[in-house]
Amino acid sequence: MESGNDVGRLNEYAHKKGFTVDYRESPPDGPDQFTQRVVLNGIVYPEGVGKTKKEAKKDAAKNALRDLSEGTHQTADDNHNPTPAQQNFIGLVNNYCMIKKCRHTFVEVRRDGQPHIHQFFYRLIIDNKEYPVAEGRTVKEARQNAARLAWPALKEQMDWDSKVSVRSTLSEDGAPPSPSPSPSPTPLESHEASSQSMFTSDFDPIEYLGSGAYGWVYKARRKLEEKYYAVKIVRSDKNAFREVVTLSELLHHNVIRYFNCWIENTRYQDDISAGSSAGSYSDTQSTDDPSVKFLYIQMELCKTKTLKEWIHEKNTQSLQDTKRRQESLTIAQQIVSGVEYIHSKGHIHRDLKPENILFGLDDKEVKIGDFGLVTRDDDPLMDRTENRGTRSYMAPEQVGKTYDRKVDIFALGLIYLELLWKVSSGHERGEVLKNARKQILPTNFSRAFQEENLIIKKMLHEKPEDRPEASELKAQLDKLAQTENEPQKRATV
Ligand code: ATP
Ligand code: MG
Repeated sequence: MESGNDVGRLNEYAHKKGFTVDYRESPPDGPDQFTQRVVLNGIVYPEGVGKTKKEAKKDAAKNALRDLSEGTHQTADDNHNPTPAQQNFIGLVNNYCMIKKCRHTFVEVRRDGQPHIHQFFYRLIIDNKEYPVAEGRTVKEARQNAARLAWPALKEQMDWDSKVSVRSTLSEDGAPPSPSPSPSPTPLESHEASSQSMFTSDFDPIEYLGSGAYGWVYKARRKLEEKYYAVKIVRSDKNAFREVVTLSELLHHNVIRYFNCWIENTRYQDDISAGSSAGSYSDTQSTDDPSVKFLYIQMELCKTKTLKEWIHEKNTQSLQDTKRRQESLTIAQQIVSGVEYIHSKGHIHRDLKPENILFGLDDKEVKIGDFGLVTRDDDPLMDRTENRGTRSYMAPEQVGKTYDRKVDIFALGLIYLELLWKVSSGHERGEVLKNARKQILPTNFSRAFQEENLIIKKMLHEKPEDRPEASELKAQLDKLAQTENEPQKRATV
């Protein structure tokens, strides 16, 4: 867009709409660096810069026009739909919190400015969750801007809720639901609307298989084709939805296969699972709370024995033997194949650990499961909330927010070590893992498993960029498997 007459164009636009236009000057950054911002009806637009005040003003007008054109693009008819500058975001937030029954507050972060140019900085906090800091020339303006910055995330949450809710309770402008006919229900909605549980009508629940921090898993026979599946029940929220969306995109023999998902108002409970520890959210699993829904995920049924039990069994056997070495390599090769595939699809698993690795019913194939913490590797904005994953297998950088797929390689390094190395007690295991996180492997291990020692050390490298990609690792393990078939080339255990 040509910036020559942007100031005039913005004035004309404001005049037509009956808005007030104001230009706000910030203190110059240097002798040749002036900054200005447009304030249109109390909403502040992005900063314009220039070597003179006039240039900065033109640049600010250009930025405001660009933002406005994006805003009017979203709202086709701005006689009826307010532009971002007109919208009362505080009102939207108030409505949102009233309906969601959450508490919100605007908190002053700091105030700056010169004698005649005040600057206030506020942020919105909803139920302890903090949203970005916004600036304003008055308290009211700073609060309005803070609400404006929080709104996209709240709207995203609302969109999600309306996906899983039969009735929409809040429209985008905070008004009551419109009387217009609602679109035909999605499969998710229709199961939920019906009072009958699809789980009990379509399946015979056979056995409670287990639970983790987030869900309950049942073996169930689908009545129609008389086939057995695993059905995982988790509280329905955005993260749970991420698990099924990811699973539905993956098809690989070393990844648990996904078949279907649906939402129900209640969670199926039998006597055993009712007393299980799953549910760090036990207070909210109560079906008395109508806002709590449950997502049912129908998956391929695996053996009940996970890799954790496999390792435990091996550790109770008397000797460290060559069979364990060969079997561990075969298992590691399969996990790496699955991880290579997951990474090739742009995902990071983030919670690789023996409990989340299962065996297929034929006992031959290894299957990576539990995609409850999966995230995209290529989306810098994706929530990489701190401390996700299981602490003993977590890569060092995973405690922060900047990390990539290499966190899976780190976890895999620890798993491969555990597969190979016999420990006699929980205490010893803890020590071995703790030292391995610092790349210190047991002395006898380094001697007995020379090639594996080198590979694992690279996988556990502190710097993620120095850890191998899954594809490189796969090639190295394949090579190792070839030499394994020629035992004379390897050190004996
Ligand atoms: P976590 O605490 O590890 O995050 P979670 O609550 O997300 O656990 P899962 O790890 O998916 O749940 O499953 C919990 C347990 O249920 C597993 O450790 C396993 O014993 C059993 N399980 C899960 N999926 C299957 C399956 N497809 N077939 C057989 N058993 C399964
Ligand atoms: Mg799990």
